[in-house]
Amino acid sequence: MEKIKMTVPLVEMDGDEMTRVLWGWIKEILIEPYVDLKTEYYDLGLRERDRTDDAVTIAAAEATLKYGVAVKCATITPNAQRVEEYGLKQMWKSPNGTIRRILDGTVFRSPILVKGITPYVGGWKKPISIARHAYGDIYNSVESRVSGGNSAYLVICDGEGKEVERKLIHNFSSDGIIQGVHNLDNSIAAFARSCFNYALSSKLDMWFGAKDTISKIYDHRFKDIFAEIYRNEYQSAFEREGITYMYTLIDDVVARVIRSEGGILWVCKNYDGDVMSDMVATAYGSLGMMSSVLVSPDNKYEFEAAHGTVTRHYYNHLKGQETSTNPVATIWAWTGALKKRGELDGNAELSKFAEKLEKATVETIESGYMTGDLIPLFDLSGVVPVKQNSRQFLRKIAENLNM
Ligand code: NAP
Ligand code: MG
Repeated sequence: MEKIKMTVPLVEMDGDEMTRVLWGWIKEILIEPYVDLKTEYYDLGLRERDRTDDAVTIAAAEATLKYGVAVKCATITPNAQRVEEYGLKQMWKSPNGTIRRILDGTVFRSPILVKGITPYVGGWKKPISIARHAYGDIYNSVESRVSGGNSAYLVICDGEGKEVERKLIHNFSSDGIIQGVHNLDNSIAAFARSCFNYALSSKLDMWFGAKDTISKIYDHRFKDIFAEIYRNEYQSAFEREGITYMYTLIDDVVARVIRSEGGILWVCKNYDGDVMSDMVATAYGSLGMMSSVLVSPDNKYEFEAAHGTVTRHYYNHLKGQETSTNPVATIWAWTGALKKRGELDGNAELSKFAEKLEKATVETIESGYMTGDLIPLFDLSGVVPVKQNSRQFLRKIAENLNM
């Protein structure tokens, strides 16, 4: 069989620990036998980040801006213990944070659904994708404790430090606390565009919730910016695709999401996204089945798994033990990137291959072959689940690929 050709390279970002091992196996068993793979390779493994003073991460992000599509393996975000373990020059920043800043992007997470693994919410039949705004609010806040008898004000000064506005927050009759949060119109607008683009490219209805009835300036600004960008830039495309955009109060969105059958993009402010993405991920089953993509406002894509480097499994692997680490979300990073490359380059064969690989993966699990994390969740009448180690599981998928 002749391998599928690629014209434009994918930006390939290798990573750390167990996911780095899976990365190599996925390419060896599921991709390279079928695709004449063209990638521009960046090693984002912690040692190489340390050796290059993290320049490799920046170069990889810039390559993503150039080529438009990247696939990324999970990477270690170093803490004090990792600095010691790897003898690092310094505690390098999170590569995901660096790439997100350079792309000015938004992260979208979606569960991968298979028969036999039923969401805890009975009505959910289709995936719910979540977008989280990753700038501002309480994540860049200033806080203080205030002693009783003191007063707190919100003060705005101009460039020279001259006061232009002053509002009383509270006259404290007893001890208390205050918090100052902010956001930027530009960041909200970039977030809005990333979300509208993602909804269009995945043909999902988009729901956005905030609390504008209570927060009449702050949350209201989010609502207004989204409404204006929708009207001016996206409404006609949404109508053409037969998808809708709805803004409603955050509590109303929560109620609607639970009653829905899924198949929506749920757009969240920073804190709501932090909390709700963990709830949605848990409700769908396993972290090993959650995919993730970073989308920039000008339509650059970086695909990855939502989970980390699965450290505990890696230490077992180093001891020579077989591990049953779930590669599905990492496979989806590859298929997402190949599909997008195929779509952008008019390479239908490449997109079709990626779809076939996803289908073969789903069929493998539905026929009872899966990694250990899925065994306790799996319940499908007439199918007895069989635990596979990671390589056995990948080989089963290859058999089902049937090419
Ligand atoms: P993690 O790697 O996601 O793993 C947490 C636990 O979840 C695992 O120990 C495992 O549970 C289970 N799990 C996650 N993915 C799995 C899979 N594919 N198959 C089977 N089980 C899976 O999170 P972590 O342990 O908090 O973080 C480890 C490292 O990853 C850290 O250095 C962190 O910085 C990094 N990280 C990177 C990213 C990223 O690059 N996007 C995201 C998060 C974390 P059991 O041990 O019970 O089997
Ligand atoms: Mg969270």
